[in-house]
Amino acid sequence: MNPETEIKELTEQLNRYAYEYYTLDKPTVEDAEYDRLYRKLEELESANPNLVRADSPTHRTGDVVLSGFEKFQHPYNLYSLGDVFSKEELAEWEARIRKSIDEPEYICELKIDGLSLSLYYEAGQLVTAATRGDGSIGENITENVKRIKDVPLSLSEPVDIVVRGEAYLPRQNFAKLNAERELDGLQPFANPRNAAAGTLRQLDTKVVAKRGLATFLYQEASPATNNTQEEVLEYFEKLGLVVNPERVFAKNLDEIWAFIEKVTAMRDELAYDIDGVVIKVNNLAEQEELGFTVKAPRWAIAYKFPAELAETEILSVDWTV
Ligand code: NAD
Repeated sequence: MNPETEIKELTEQLNRYAYEYYTLDKPTVEDAEYDRLYRKLEELESANPNLVRADSPTHRTGDVVLSGFEKFQHPYNLYSLGDVFSKEELAEWEARIRKSIDEPEYICELKIDGLSLSLYYEAGQLVTAATRGDGSIGENITENVKRIKDVPLSLSEPVDIVVRGEAYLPRQNFAKLNAERELDGLQPFANPRNAAAGTLRQLDTKVVAKRGLATFLYQEASPATNNTQEEVLEYFEKLGLVVNPERVFAKNLDEIWAFIEKVTAMRDELAYDIDGVVIKVNNLAEQEELGFTVKAPRWAIAYKFPAELAETEILSVDWTV
């Protein structure tokens, strides 16, 4: 197949998968297969830059918003993350950081497998909660997010702040939900991520309240006044937001890799799903120096776990039920 046709076909295929995943919450392929095709498209595009299409998924974050909710224009672009799939690729990313930063310090966090959301607090009060959407426009899901018990409606300080995080369904609640659905003759959800995404786009807030979603907040979207990512997370905790406790500092590739191995070993024991580890440059001034590509920060990377052999079959579900 000539590169032009291959790029066109891959673009269309990936856009269809992205629509099923982000907009319908009904993926028809495994994430690893999506990631493999995405990689292939990236390689073809970098070898043939003149053939890159305007609708390429490599230039966009997420997907369009659903019509059931009001659209919300984010004042700050909510970036995605670049990803790596091996120690070699991680080493390349780390070497690139070292070209700009002499002695980098990294903070390694769990990559929570849920739905990306942002919380807008004014004078310490929760005024809006929105999905990431395409990074610029999301869905206003405030009423639903207010039903998540661990999201504070007011913070411990009267601050204006925009916080990014992940809403997820703990494994125990996911198992309970699917057991109930089966008893009711409904199709079970494919995985906790789809269940969380479908739940947050429910039009009936009572259903949201019942399902037991939870959150981990991991980043400030408004300009942070702190010096480091660790300080941001500690500040979040002080404000009453939930922060994941499993995080470590690392000074080099070996230390990052040691954390990845530790997390890989404990992954099954966690109460929630993760799909990798996020490595971030800890110092916020250095983050600013490194900046962003069109879709992701240069100062962070997601290491994604290899696909699990025993993945369950992807089922399509009607989450409106
Ligand atoms: P992503 O999920 O790979 O990574 C970025 C997201 O990670 C952030 O937006 C944030 O929400 C989340 N995250 C979790 N913990 C974090 C932390 N500690 N710090 C920072 N961010 C954290 O990127 P994406 O753009 O949301 O989704 C792309 C991925 O979705 C693909 O790589 C693929 O695996 C999957 N996908 C699958 C299909 C399919 O059909 N199966 C289709 C489209 C996308």
